[in-house]
Amino acid sequence: MSDAFDLIVVGAGPGGYVAAIRAAQLGMKTAVIERESKLGGTCLRVGCIPSKALLESSELYEKSAKHFAERGLKVSGLELDLAQMMKHKDGVVSTLDAGIQGLLKKNRVERIFGHGQLLGGGKVEVRSNSGTTQISGKRILIATGSVPSSLPGIQPDGDRIGTSTEALAWPEVPQHLVVIGGGVIGLELGTVWRRLGAKVTVLEYLPRIMPGIDEQVAAEARKIFEKQGVVFRLGTKVTGVSVAGTQCTVSIDGAEPLTCDRVLVAVGRRPCTDSLGLEAAGVATDRRGFIQVNSSYQTTASGVFAIGDVIGGAMLAHKAEEEGIACIEKMATGHGHINYAIIPAVVYTEPEIASAGANEDALQAAGIKYRAGKFAFAANGRARAGGHTDGFVKVLADEATDRVLGVHIIGTHAGELIHEAAVAMQFGASSEDIARCCHAHPTLSEAVKEAAMAVDKRAIHS
Ligand code: FAD
Ligand code: NAD
Repeated sequence: MSDAFDLIVVGAGPGGYVAAIRAAQLGMKTAVIERESKLGGTCLRVGCIPSKALLESSELYEKSAKHFAERGLKVSGLELDLAQMMKHKDGVVSTLDAGIQGLLKKNRVERIFGHGQLLGGGKVEVRSNSGTTQISGKRILIATGSVPSSLPGIQPDGDRIGTSTEALAWPEVPQHLVVIGGGVIGLELGTVWRRLGAKVTVLEYLPRIMPGIDEQVAAEARKIFEKQGVVFRLGTKVTGVSVAGTQCTVSIDGAEPLTCDRVLVAVGRRPCTDSLGLEAAGVATDRRGFIQVNSSYQTTASGVFAIGDVIGGAMLAHKAEEEGIACIEKMATGHGHINYAIIPAVVYTEPEIASAGANEDALQAAGIKYRAGKFAFAANGRARAGGHTDGFVKVLADEATDRVLGVHIIGTHAGELIHEAAVAMQFGASSEDIARCCHAHPTLSEAVKEAAMAVDKRAIHS
């Protein structure tokens, strides 16, 4: 058995590798076990980064095909080279993987390749093609993330019926892509393939898309995506998918089946705890399989901690990172904190959709009285100049104190704009604080200022 570590991290996703670096910075002798050859987890290998590379590339393609002419730019002979687009995406992933390897090395974190399984008593077995070994640590941090879920009657086959992993690497553009699930993955990857030429039909079980996002924003998003050509069928229950050659048949409860050549199953993700030895180690999970932790990320087993997607909550890379840092700082210093009320969320479609804090549905359910200020990008000079007039900013402020409770943006670069709101909220800002803060002109950020002014019905440009 190797020397004992102060900390063994299982899983090198954004939660695990960031926690390992923070632990090393704080003087812990740290190892990270990862079973994939690349580091960075779901986020880097088959999630955030490859999806954003394809979103960026497909946006360029669509713009040059459909929107350059109106700006006086004539493009002729434009062709899609999908293989090159995928190669570019893979290159981005490899570069960032090398970056994480370098960071672990610089911080003297030992990277151990293989599948980790807890044996109890601080011991972890690591299995790989080159054999089985055991290591021990004073503390263990589980950061094994999540994997795609499916539905009864649907078996992703790695080809015609894919999860997000396959949909990030299809070798040709589908003619008709049926997306099951109108959530974040369905909309982002549906957008990629629509831009590249696929007909896209989204089947969503609920009567609305993007549950969790402010309802007014989600309704606006649906209108815009429909204008872009996406077909939504809401309140639709899929009962199965069959494949014959290149043809898929999607069965729907109470309606005619749909035929298509690819299906993307995007109905959520489940915790990744396969062969992890949770029982042997005495680590309890809830009824959905997420690892149970207390406010210090301690599991039911002494010395065993867990963070990130595997403990549930928002399945976001930055939430996993913050939990990694808070967990390690609590271990080392007794202090560590995350403000779960202000974790920004971004959907990287065009327009982007971003939020921080509570939405109207949540405030109403909680009986909190608030005032809303809204400002449309159509009235913002910079948005007009760039041709990005869809969407709005909405600021929700406490009726009595004016403290900002939530900000919701649908519009171009919403994912960047939201951080002004997040920082303001972190410092307890009122809508008047944002309204009185000078914003440069002409910027999209002026729409945030105007929405804050609109809370008090004194927006200038609307
Ligand atoms: P993961 O990133 O899942 O990492 C867990 C790691 O543990 C994996 O590398 C896995 O191989 C390893 N592992 C598991 N079990 C073992 C074991 N027993 N032994 C050794 N290693 C093991 N989030 C965002 O915030 N922004 C986005 O834009 C975004 N886009 C996404 C797009 C897609 C298509 C998908 C699927 C997800 C996206 N997410 C996004 C979600 C984000 O990827 C996850 O929330 C994030 O990766 C969770 O981090 P984690 O560290 O908890 O787990
Ligand atoms: P999701 O929870 O966002 O959406 C799943 C959708 O599937 C929901 O709208 C749900 O109502 C629907 N659904 C569930 N069962 C269904 C059924 N039987 N038939 C039809 N529809 C059904 O999940 P996702 O899109 O798979 O994404 C998984 C996770 O990955 C999310 O939690 C998300 O946070 C994360 N993610 C984040 C980003 C980002 O931050 N930009 C991008 C991609 C993924």
